[in-house]
Amino acid sequence: MRHDESRALYDRALSVIPGGVNSSVRATRPYPFFIERGDGAHVVDADGNRYLDYVMGYGPLLYGHDPPEPVRAAIQSYASEGPMYGAPTEIEVELAEFVARHVPSVEMTRFVNSGTEATVSAVRLARGYTGRDKIVVMQGGYHGAQESTLVEGGPDGAEPSSPGIPSSFAEHTIPVPFNDSEAIEAVFAEHGDEIAAVLTEPILGNTGIVHPVDGYLERLRELTADHGALLIFDEVITGFRVGGLQCAQGKFGVTPDVTTFGKIVGGGFPVGAIGGRAAIIEQFTPSGDVFQSGTFSGHPVTMAAGYEYLSYAAENDVYEHVNRLAERLREGISDILEDQAPGYTVVGTDSMFKTVFTRGGAVGDAEHSDVCAAGCRQRESCSKYDTCPKTGADVADAETDRWERIFWQEMKERGIFLTANQFESQFVSYAHTEEDVEETLEAYKETL
Ligand SMILES: *Cc1c(COP(=O)(O)O)cnc(C)c1O
Repeated sequence: MRHDESRALYDRALSVIPGGVNSSVRATRPYPFFIERGDGAHVVDADGNRYLDYVMGYGPLLYGHDPPEPVRAAIQSYASEGPMYGAPTEIEVELAEFVARHVPSVEMTRFVNSGTEATVSAVRLARGYTGRDKIVVMQGGYHGAQESTLVEGGPDGAEPSSPGIPSSFAEHTIPVPFNDSEAIEAVFAEHGDEIAAVLTEPILGNTGIVHPVDGYLERLRELTADHGALLIFDEVITGFRVGGLQCAQGKFGVTPDVTTFGKIVGGGFPVGAIGGRAAIIEQFTPSGDVFQSGTFSGHPVTMAAGYEYLSYAAENDVYEHVNRLAERLREGISDILEDQAPGYTVVGTDSMFKTVFTRGGAVGDAEHSDVCAAGCRQRESCSKYDTCPKTGADVADAETDRWERIFWQEMKERGIFLTANQFESQFVSYAHTEEDVEETLEAYKETL
């Protein structure tokens, strides 16, 4: 594969864009390939190389790069007729009604422009609603580029994880390990009446893919309810993907007070949203006092794309298709691992998948039949239970450099575009086919 055009573009970009990219994860080594266009489940780069795409914009592109006709038509019509006004439009009401119809915890929704903006607003809302300051988050969880959650440390003390954030922000944030009920029980025992909210992804989706152990999300629900704190599910990545239109909260049967959305709900355009019970969401201005506002919020093109995206999924076999192909991928990768890398762990559910290059996870031959071939479910009876990743730290301990510097590079050279590091999830879209899956498994077999 030649990459001369991408190399030249990156050379130019480095002069005028910090690190040559507008989002850090895109700065792949030695330089990123610049994409010229998408084509179904594929992307084509500036040198004309074609890749089978499992990055899918890091989550939003449920249909791949050719959206269904109603989505395309809506985007074109709303883009050419405005595109935005600074006054309300019918389509934002339609999308809010759709979300309220399908997502168990949601009566009302405020739309914003990114997942980050959604979690920033949700944290402010929880603090305003409860009159408390502390937020509990999961180590290795991701809530976008926001001051209150860019922290490192543990229950005994947190520091900002980036320069530029005063440590006074981190003083109000308590990071705990995911899947550890005792750790968060201890935090509530000490700080119960100071905690505004527990903010967590129902499945950690930005640090490998870490499935909750049985009963963990239920425990979070009980603890928050008992102490008058809110439970906020950050479903920016799982929303309208895991569990289909009911989202991960429907799949797990645990109903949070507030949910943040992003990615898929904007149909490929910049979006975020905060949904929940009316009594809480109405605390936002202008119905309440918690300030929230945005020039582009509820942008008609985004609202139309999101509404048509979700409506199409409600009427077609979209989730069935993406979930079936991803399951086939996860099972196929499990088979390959059994022969070639028995220590590694296949993770993911619904249309999300990843292979975590876990260390020390090899089990004896006879025991392989009991591992979760379709993606780790944290079953205590599994022979890999002791080594499968349960926290963000477990994923960080994997062979992260091997993924980034060898595996990712070689898959790319074989025409398969995966997410650039060990942590980010990969996605199957409605445009992927059985043949794509077989081609991908062949490439995993050759590369692992
Ligand atoms: C992607 C993501 C965000 C941030 O969304 P942006 O639109 O990138 O700001 C927040 N939370 C989770 C769980 C995400 O996956």
